[in-house]
Amino acid sequence: MIQYHAQLARMTTFQLGGVAERLVQPSSIRELAETIALGRRRGWPTRILGHGSNLLLRDRVLPGLTIRLDRRGFGTLRAQGYEVTAGAGVSLSRLIGFCVGRGFHGLEGLVGIPAAVGGALRNNAGGRDVTIAERLSSVTLLNRDGDVVTLPRGELSFGYRSSSFAESVILEAVFRLERGVREEALQRCRDHFQRKRADQPLAERSAGCIFRNPPGDFAGRLVETAGLKGLRIGRAEISPLHGNFIVAHRGARSDDVLRLIDHVRERVANVHGVWLELEIEVW
Ligand SMILES: Cc1cc2nc3c(=O)[nH]c(=O)nc-3n(C[C@H](O)[C@H](O)[C@H](O)COP(=O)(O)OP(=O)(O)OC[C@H]3O[C@@H](n4cnc5c(N)ncnc54)[C@H](O)[C@@H]3O)c2cc1C
Repeated sequence: MIQYHAQLARMTTFQLGGVAERLVQPSSIRELAETIALGRRRGWPTRILGHGSNLLLRDRVLPGLTIRLDRRGFGTLRAQGYEVTAGAGVSLSRLIGFCVGRGFHGLEGLVGIPAAVGGALRNNAGGRDVTIAERLSSVTLLNRDGDVVTLPRGELSFGYRSSSFAESVILEAVFRLERGVREEALQRCRDHFQRKRADQPLAERSAGCIFRNPPGDFAGRLVETAGLKGLRIGRAEISPLHGNFIVAHRGARSDDVLRLIDHVRERVANVHGVWLELEIEVW
Protein backbone atom coordinates (compact mmCIF):
# COMPACT_ATOMS: atom_id res chain seq x y z
CA MET A 1 0.00 0.00 0.00
CA ILE A 2 1.36 3.41 -0.94
CA GLN A 3 1.15 6.17 1.67
CA TYR A 4 1.30 9.65 0.17
CA HIS A 5 3.10 12.52 1.87
CA ALA A 6 4.17 10.32 4.77
CA GLN A 7 6.15 11.87 7.62
CA LEU A 8 9.67 10.44 7.62
CA ALA A 9 11.42 12.39 10.37
CA ARG A 10 10.40 9.91 13.09
CA MET A 11 11.83 7.09 11.00
CA THR A 12 15.33 8.50 11.36
CA THR A 13 17.53 8.98 14.41
CA PHE A 14 18.06 12.69 13.63
CA GLN A 15 14.25 13.09 13.56
CA LEU A 16 14.60 15.87 11.01
CA GLY A 17 13.35 16.52 7.52
CA GLY A 18 10.22 16.42 5.51
CA VAL A 19 7.82 13.95 4.02
CA ALA A 20 8.09 11.17 1.46
CA GLU A 21 6.12 11.74 -1.71
CA ARG A 22 5.34 8.01 -1.56
CA LEU A 23 6.16 5.55 1.22
CA VAL A 24 5.70 1.78 1.10
CA GLN A 25 6.43 -0.58 4.00
CA PRO A 26 6.16 -3.95 2.29
CA SER A 27 5.10 -6.97 4.29
CA SER A 28 6.63 -9.57 1.97
CA ILE A 29 9.36 -10.05 -0.63
CA ARG A 30 6.68 -10.23 -3.27
CA GLU A 31 5.20 -6.87 -2.29
CA LEU A 32 8.71 -5.39 -2.22
CA ALA A 33 9.51 -6.73 -5.71
CA GLU A 34 6.19 -5.49 -7.12
CA THR A 35 6.72 -2.06 -5.57
CA ILE A 36 10.21 -1.74 -7.04
CA ALA A 37 8.95 -2.88 -10.45
CA LEU A 38 6.14 -0.30 -10.30
CA GLY A 39 8.62 2.43 -9.39
CA ARG A 40 10.82 1.46 -12.31
CA ARG A 41 7.91 1.49 -14.77
CA ARG A 42 6.83 4.93 -13.56
CA GLY A 43 10.38 6.28 -13.43
CA TRP A 44 10.21 7.13 -9.71
CA PRO A 45 13.55 7.58 -7.95
CA THR A 46 13.56 4.81 -5.34
CA ARG A 47 15.33 4.63 -1.96
CA ILE A 48 15.50 1.92 0.67
CA LEU A 49 15.16 3.06 4.26
CA GLY A 50 16.39 0.96 7.17
CA HIS A 51 16.43 2.48 10.65
CA GLY A 52 17.48 5.86 9.29
CA SER A 53 20.54 6.10 11.53
CA ASN A 54 22.96 7.24 8.84
CA LEU A 55 20.70 9.73 7.09
CA LEU A 56 19.88 13.41 7.07
CA LEU A 57 16.61 14.17 5.30
CA ARG A 58 16.27 17.66 3.89
CA ASP A 59 13.37 19.93 4.88
CA ARG A 60 11.36 19.12 1.75
CA VAL A 61 9.19 16.56 0.01
CA LEU A 62 11.41 13.59 -0.82
CA PRO A 63 10.45 12.86 -4.42
CA GLY A 64 9.66 9.41 -5.80
CA LEU A 65 9.35 6.27 -3.75
CA THR A 66 10.74 5.47 -0.31
CA ILE A 67 10.60 1.83 0.73
CA ARG A 68 11.06 1.04 4.40
CA LEU A 69 11.96 -2.47 5.43
CA ASP A 70 10.86 -3.18 8.98
CA ARG A 71 10.28 -6.15 11.26
CA ARG A 72 6.76 -6.80 10.00
CA GLY A 73 7.87 -8.14 6.64
CA PHE A 74 11.57 -8.66 7.22
CA GLY A 75 11.80 -9.75 10.84
CA THR A 76 13.08 -13.33 10.56
CA LEU A 77 15.34 -14.34 13.43
CA ARG A 78 16.31 -17.99 13.86
CA ALA A 79 19.29 -20.13 14.77
CA GLN A 80 20.55 -23.34 13.27
CA GLY A 81 23.69 -24.66 14.92
CA TYR A 82 25.94 -21.62 15.37
CA GLU A 83 24.44 -19.83 12.39
CA VAL A 84 21.83 -17.14 12.88
CA THR A 85 19.54 -15.91 10.10
CA ALA A 86 18.27 -12.35 10.50
CA GLY A 87 15.88 -10.39 8.29
CA ALA A 88 16.89 -6.99 6.94
CA GLY A 89 14.37 -5.26 9.22
CA VAL A 90 15.67 -6.76 12.47
CA SER A 91 17.48 -4.27 14.68
CA LEU A 92 21.11 -4.99 15.51
CA SER A 93 20.24 -4.79 19.20
CA ARG A 94 17.65 -7.55 18.79
CA LEU A 95 20.06 -9.69 16.79
CA ILE A 96 22.81 -9.24 19.38
CA GLY A 97 20.40 -9.99 22.23
CA PHE A 98 19.26 -13.16 20.43
CA CYS A 99 22.86 -14.32 19.95
CA VAL A 100 24.07 -13.46 23.44
CA GLY A 101 21.03 -15.18 24.95
CA ARG A 102 22.19 -18.41 23.30
CA GLY A 103 25.81 -17.92 24.30
CA PHE A 104 26.87 -17.18 20.71
CA HIS A 105 29.89 -14.87 20.49
CA GLY A 106 30.97 -12.54 17.70
CA LEU A 107 28.65 -9.55 17.35
CA GLU A 108 29.05 -7.93 20.79
CA GLY A 109 31.32 -5.20 19.38
CA LEU A 110 28.35 -3.81 17.42
CA VAL A 111 26.33 -3.05 20.52
CA GLY A 112 24.85 0.46 20.63
CA ILE A 113 24.67 0.90 16.84
CA PRO A 114 21.01 1.80 16.18
CA ALA A 115 20.82 0.12 12.77
CA ALA A 116 18.72 -2.54 11.10
CA VAL A 117 20.53 -5.57 9.70
CA GLY A 118 20.02 -4.39 6.08
CA GLY A 119 21.42 -0.90 6.69
CA ALA A 120 24.25 -2.27 8.82
CA LEU A 121 25.36 -4.60 6.01
CA ARG A 122 24.99 -1.92 3.36
CA ASN A 123 27.35 0.34 5.35
CA ASN A 124 29.46 -2.46 6.82
CA ALA A 125 28.78 -1.03 10.25
CA GLY A 126 31.54 -1.59 12.74
CA GLY A 127 32.62 -1.08 16.30
CA ARG A 128 36.11 -0.85 17.76
CA ASP A 129 37.16 -4.39 16.95
CA VAL A 130 34.61 -5.88 14.56
CA THR A 131 32.66 -5.05 11.42
CA ILE A 132 29.42 -6.81 10.62
CA ALA A 133 30.92 -8.33 7.46
CA GLU A 134 33.45 -10.28 9.52
CA ARG A 135 30.70 -12.50 10.91
CA LEU A 136 28.74 -12.83 7.70
CA SER A 137 28.19 -16.19 6.08
CA SER A 138 25.76 -15.31 3.25
CA VAL A 139 23.25 -12.68 2.17
CA THR A 140 19.95 -13.06 0.34
CA LEU A 141 19.21 -10.16 -2.00
CA LEU A 142 16.66 -8.89 -4.42
CA ASN A 143 18.88 -7.97 -7.35
CA ARG A 144 18.43 -5.38 -10.09
CA ASP A 145 16.65 -7.91 -12.31
CA GLY A 146 14.07 -8.62 -9.61
CA ASP A 147 15.53 -12.05 -8.79
CA VAL A 148 16.04 -13.31 -5.24
CA VAL A 149 19.59 -14.67 -4.95
CA THR A 150 21.71 -15.91 -2.07
CA LEU A 151 25.40 -15.05 -2.22
CA PRO A 152 28.14 -16.45 0.02
CA ARG A 153 30.42 -14.01 1.84
CA GLY A 154 33.22 -14.76 -0.64
CA GLU A 155 31.24 -13.25 -3.52
CA LEU A 156 30.63 -9.97 -1.72
CA SER A 157 33.01 -7.11 -1.13
CA PHE A 158 33.15 -4.80 1.85
CA GLY A 159 35.29 -1.80 2.73
CA TYR A 160 35.37 0.93 5.35
CA ARG A 161 31.66 1.67 5.87
CA SER A 162 30.92 0.42 2.37
CA SER A 163 29.76 -2.66 0.49
CA SER A 164 28.91 -3.94 -2.96
CA PHE A 165 25.12 -3.81 -2.33
CA ALA A 166 24.47 -0.44 -3.97
CA GLU A 167 22.12 -1.85 -6.64
CA SER A 168 20.40 -4.56 -4.58
CA VAL A 169 18.01 -4.79 -1.67
CA ILE A 170 19.24 -6.91 1.22
CA LEU A 171 16.48 -9.25 2.39
CA GLU A 172 18.19 -11.36 5.02
CA ALA A 173 21.61 -12.53 6.12
CA VAL A 174 23.19 -15.50 7.84
CA PHE A 175 25.87 -14.87 10.48
CA ARG A 176 28.34 -17.48 11.65
CA LEU A 177 29.09 -17.21 15.36
CA GLU A 178 31.12 -19.02 17.97
CA ARG A 179 29.88 -21.00 20.90
CA GLY A 180 30.86 -19.41 24.20
CA VAL A 181 29.70 -18.58 27.68
CA ARG A 182 26.57 -16.44 27.84
CA GLU A 183 27.73 -14.34 30.83
CA GLU A 184 31.02 -13.51 29.10
CA ALA A 185 29.22 -12.32 25.95
CA LEU A 186 26.86 -10.28 28.10
CA GLN A 187 29.76 -8.69 29.96
CA ARG A 188 31.47 -7.79 26.65
CA CYS A 189 28.24 -6.10 25.52
CA ARG A 190 28.12 -4.09 28.74
CA ASP A 191 31.79 -3.07 28.37
CA HIS A 192 31.35 -2.02 24.74
CA PHE A 193 28.21 -0.07 25.52
CA GLN A 194 29.78 1.72 28.48
CA ARG A 195 32.78 2.77 26.38
CA LYS A 196 30.53 3.92 23.55
CA ARG A 197 28.27 5.87 25.89
CA ALA A 198 31.28 7.52 27.52
CA ASP A 199 32.43 9.18 24.29
CA GLN A 200 29.35 9.40 22.05
CA PRO A 201 26.14 11.36 22.72
CA LEU A 202 23.89 8.29 22.47
CA ALA A 203 20.94 9.89 24.24
CA GLU A 204 20.71 12.76 21.75
CA ARG A 205 19.35 13.01 18.22
CA SER A 206 22.14 12.42 15.69
CA ALA A 207 23.12 10.24 12.75
CA GLY A 208 26.32 8.94 14.30
CA CYS A 209 29.59 10.07 12.76
CA ILE A 210 28.99 12.80 10.21
CA PHE A 211 32.33 12.54 8.37
CA ARG A 212 34.42 9.61 7.21
CA ASN A 213 37.78 9.28 8.90
CA PRO A 214 40.46 10.43 6.45
CA PRO A 215 43.26 7.89 5.90
CA GLY A 216 45.43 7.66 9.01
CA ASP A 217 43.44 10.15 11.06
CA PHE A 218 40.12 10.72 12.80
CA ALA A 219 37.56 13.25 11.65
CA GLY A 220 36.58 13.85 15.28
CA ARG A 221 40.16 14.79 16.17
CA LEU A 222 40.38 17.23 13.25
CA VAL A 223 37.10 18.89 14.23
CA GLU A 224 38.10 19.11 17.87
CA THR A 225 41.57 20.54 17.22
CA ALA A 226 40.04 23.09 14.84
CA GLY A 227 38.25 24.38 17.96
CA LEU A 228 34.77 23.47 16.77
CA LYS A 229 33.39 21.26 19.54
CA GLY A 230 30.26 22.83 21.01
CA LEU A 231 29.74 25.17 18.05
CA ARG A 232 26.06 25.80 17.27
CA ILE A 233 24.25 26.95 14.16
CA GLY A 234 20.54 27.37 14.75
CA ARG A 235 19.54 24.42 16.91
CA ALA A 236 22.26 22.06 15.66
CA GLU A 237 25.47 21.62 17.63
CA ILE A 238 28.83 19.87 17.28
CA SER A 239 28.63 17.52 20.23
CA PRO A 240 30.83 18.69 23.11
CA LEU A 241 31.41 14.96 23.75
CA HIS A 242 32.54 13.87 20.28
CA GLY A 243 33.73 16.16 17.48
CA ASN A 244 32.35 13.93 14.73
CA PHE A 245 28.76 13.99 15.99
CA ILE A 246 26.27 16.75 15.26
CA VAL A 247 23.29 16.71 17.58
CA ALA A 248 19.88 18.21 16.82
CA HIS A 249 18.23 20.06 19.67
CA ARG A 250 14.50 20.67 19.97
CA GLY A 251 13.38 22.94 17.14
CA ALA A 252 16.35 22.09 14.87
CA ARG A 253 15.92 21.98 11.11
CA SER A 254 17.91 19.97 8.60
CA ASP A 255 19.16 23.21 7.21
CA ASP A 256 20.85 24.00 10.55
CA VAL A 257 22.77 20.71 10.29
CA LEU A 258 23.69 21.33 6.65
CA ARG A 259 25.03 24.80 7.43
CA LEU A 260 27.02 23.42 10.35
CA ILE A 261 28.49 20.71 8.09
CA ASP A 262 29.57 23.34 5.53
CA HIS A 263 31.13 25.47 8.25
CA VAL A 264 33.06 22.52 9.73
CA ARG A 265 34.38 21.41 6.35
CA GLU A 266 35.66 24.88 5.51
CA ARG A 267 37.22 25.42 8.91
CA VAL A 268 38.91 22.01 8.98
CA ALA A 269 40.21 22.57 5.44
CA ASN A 270 41.67 25.93 6.49
CA VAL A 271 43.23 24.65 9.71
CA HIS A 272 44.35 21.15 8.67
CA GLY A 273 44.30 21.19 4.86
CA VAL A 274 41.89 18.22 4.82
CA TRP A 275 38.50 18.21 3.08
CA LEU A 276 36.20 15.97 5.12
CA GLU A 277 33.97 13.58 3.19
CA LEU A 278 30.48 12.82 4.47
CA GLU A 279 29.81 9.48 6.11
CA ILE A 280 26.08 10.20 6.39
CA GLU A 281 23.83 10.33 3.34
CA VAL A 282 21.78 13.45 2.70
CA TRP A 283 18.43 12.68 1.01
C1 LIG B 1 24.05 7.17 17.96
C2 LIG B 1 24.62 6.49 16.73
C3 LIG B 1 25.75 5.71 16.84
C4 LIG B 1 26.30 5.08 15.71
N1 LIG B 1 27.41 4.32 15.87
C5 LIG B 1 27.92 3.68 14.79
C6 LIG B 1 29.08 2.83 14.92
O1 LIG B 1 29.63 2.64 16.01
N2 LIG B 1 29.55 2.22 13.81
C7 LIG B 1 28.96 2.38 12.58
O2 LIG B 1 29.41 1.77 11.60
N3 LIG B 1 27.87 3.19 12.42
C8 LIG B 1 27.34 3.83 13.49
N4 LIG B 1 26.25 4.65 13.34
C9 LIG B 1 25.72 4.91 11.98
C10 LIG B 1 24.60 3.96 11.51
O3 LIG B 1 23.99 3.28 12.59
C11 LIG B 1 25.14 2.96 10.49
O4 LIG B 1 25.62 3.62 9.34
C12 LIG B 1 24.11 1.91 10.06
O5 LIG B 1 24.77 0.96 9.27
C13 LIG B 1 22.89 2.46 9.31
O6 LIG B 1 21.88 1.46 9.32
P1 LIG B 1 20.33 1.85 9.13
O7 LIG B 1 19.52 0.60 9.20
O8 LIG B 1 19.95 2.91 10.05
O9 LIG B 1 20.36 2.36 7.63
P2 LIG B 1 19.75 3.69 7.01
O10 LIG B 1 20.38 4.86 7.67
O11 LIG B 1 18.27 3.61 6.99
O12 LIG B 1 20.30 3.57 5.51
C14 LIG B 1 21.68 3.65 5.27
C15 LIG B 1 21.96 3.17 3.84
O13 LIG B 1 21.66 1.78 3.74
C16 LIG B 1 20.72 1.55 2.69
N5 LIG B 1 19.88 0.43 3.10
C17 LIG B 1 19.13 0.34 4.23
N6 LIG B 1 18.53 -0.87 4.28
C18 LIG B 1 18.90 -1.53 3.15
C19 LIG B 1 18.59 -2.81 2.61
N7 LIG B 1 17.78 -3.67 3.24
N8 LIG B 1 19.14 -3.16 1.43
C20 LIG B 1 19.97 -2.31 0.77
N9 LIG B 1 20.29 -1.08 1.22
C21 LIG B 1 19.75 -0.70 2.40
C22 LIG B 1 19.96 2.85 2.56
O14 LIG B 1 19.38 2.98 1.28
C23 LIG B 1 21.08 3.85 2.79
O15 LIG B 1 21.82 3.97 1.60
C24 LIG B 1 25.68 5.27 14.45
C25 LIG B 1 24.52 6.05 14.34
C26 LIG B 1 23.99 6.65 15.47
C27 LIG B 1 22.73 7.48 15.34
